[in-house]
Amino acid sequence: MDYKELGDKYILHTYNRYPIVLERGEGVRLYDDKGKEYLDFAAGIAVYALGYGNKAFNDALKKQIDLIMHTSNLYYNEPACLAAKELCEASHMDRVFFTNSGTEAIEGAIKTARKYAYLKDGSTDHNIIAMEHSFHGRSMGALSVTGNAHYREAFEPGIGNVRFATYNDLESVKKLVDDKTCAVIMETVQGEGGIYPAEDDFIKGVRKLCDEKDILLILDEIQCGMGRTGYMFAWEKYGVKPDVVTMAKAIGNGVPVGAFAMTEKVAEHSLVPGDHGTTYGGNPFACAAVREVLRQFEESHVVEHVKELTPSLTKALEELKEKHDNVCDRRGAGFMQALELTVPCAPVIKKAQENGLIVISAGANILRLVPPLVIEADDICKMQEILDKALTEA
Ligand SMILES: *Cc1c(COP(=O)(O)O)cnc(C)c1O
Repeated sequence: MDYKELGDKYILHTYNRYPIVLERGEGVRLYDDKGKEYLDFAAGIAVYALGYGNKAFNDALKKQIDLIMHTSNLYYNEPACLAAKELCEASHMDRVFFTNSGTEAIEGAIKTARKYAYLKDGSTDHNIIAMEHSFHGRSMGALSVTGNAHYREAFEPGIGNVRFATYNDLESVKKLVDDKTCAVIMETVQGEGGIYPAEDDFIKGVRKLCDEKDILLILDEIQCGMGRTGYMFAWEKYGVKPDVVTMAKAIGNGVPVGAFAMTEKVAEHSLVPGDHGTTYGGNPFACAAVREVLRQFEESHVVEHVKELTPSLTKALEELKEKHDNVCDRRGAGFMQALELTVPCAPVIKKAQENGLIVISAGANILRLVPPLVIEADDICKMQEILDKALTEA
């Protein structure tokens, strides 16, 4: 069966897929339908943090399937209650709402901020400050705060009252704030926009500004959270804390699940019964996945592992930058890294694939490396070797 042909015929054409049919994974390696092996430095876009074929993870899912997969949110269930407690403890938040995706987590965060402001002054004309080059998802609310005009254009009007500031430019945020600002939303490390970590002064300045004006700071940690930067959540490095955080991608390690979480203060003054809901969100199956992810993070010291190996990864990438004229920058945090090229990266990605390495892009000329968090030093060497070849050949 030619699955490329089949997919091209029946799947709505919203993605230009690479001509690879992935069949299975083992550890940090993927195999296509022809048995070709790939070292994976994409993790299904920063999702499969614990690698493939993780027996304890799969067993936990199987066990939950045999008990019950779905109950609706009209009742309590054990995995949801425990996952909520454990996720709150891991994120230092107080209340969590489980969703099925990242974009839904953003929707919930936006609704939380609007309700919080509404309860203060009874008006419905509040604005949100978002960042240029941000990415928050494809549903209408999340799209409206995504700082990429090209993604938004055909789908306007969005939710309205969204203003875009320049990332890492505190003055640009201050200029946009007024009495009707209910939230500032940003990624702690911008992902799709090209892997830009927040600068220390910037994020601290935004936090201070939000505190002064009782504006909610929403940090989108869907990509950069869950250990990816060498911290459980990327904000920890800066010593700031958001009022609302959005999570997804790695929290389910492949099971579709997201969440938004908030402090008790925000929870007490925002969403109440009837304000928000989801049929699937936080079902026992998804929450069993979240629980097992958190358990393994602790048991295997995943965050510490990322921190420990980050210098090796950055060193490898710096060496590639030094060696190749077509690499002009290396930046990132932890296992969320970018090589900016002076040329389009599509041919490099193709060459890497041919040589058995999966990498992705974040913009036309930015190579993005977001490997499973369980890669080892020799995987980094192998990546460097293949990317070296791909950068030479392409
Ligand atoms: C992937 C991503 C989203 C959207 O998540 P989906 O699960 O694709 O809806 C939102 N924000 C950031 C930072 C992301 O990387």
